[in-house]
Amino acid sequence: MTDLLQALAGSTAPVSPAAFSYGEPEQDLDAAIALHQRYTVANLIELRTIAPDLPFIPVLQGWELRHYLHCAQLYADAGIDLAAEPVVGIGSVCRRQATDEIALIVREFARRGLRLHGFGVKTAGLGAYADALVSADSMAWSMGARRADPLPGHTPKSCANCWDWASRWYQRVTAQLP
Ligand SMILES: [Zn+2]
Repeated sequence: MTDLLQALAGSTAPVSPAAFSYGEPEQDLDAAIALHQRYTVANLIELRTIAPDLPFIPVLQGWELRHYLHCAQLYADAGIDLAAEPVVGIGSVCRRQATDEIALIVREFARRGLRLHGFGVKTAGLGAYADALVSADSMAWSMGARRADPLPGHTPKSCANCWDWASRWYQRVTAQLP
């Protein structure tokens, strides 16, 4: 670990795996999220230090809105103005089932002027909050292709890595956006 990473990671009591073996599950989750957030911020600073010419983007990590707000505060504390960034990623979105809660989180940061990229946004999510994102990515098209017959005339067993399939999926999804 670099000194910077140690400084950020050490901003609360030292963390060991055993730290997550006790206490209430919710407190453990909060501690784990907070640790990952400190690493995420420290990682961005380190990457930008190593390769300042590469376009690394900040990523907000969390679970509930309060976690994401805490993550934004960590960036602010580190001197990174998220509203001034060309794009800010919003993570953990694909693992969430509650689309309205993600919508709330995404809209809160859009309201603060952040230009957001959604990682792993479901089609339903795009329908609900695409207007609050500047970009999004998804592997849903590939997952779908894996379980389906390939397009007529396509020789691999599935179109899971196929440009034509991805492009059709993209056309269909973007046509459905509000
Ligand atoms: Zn194909």
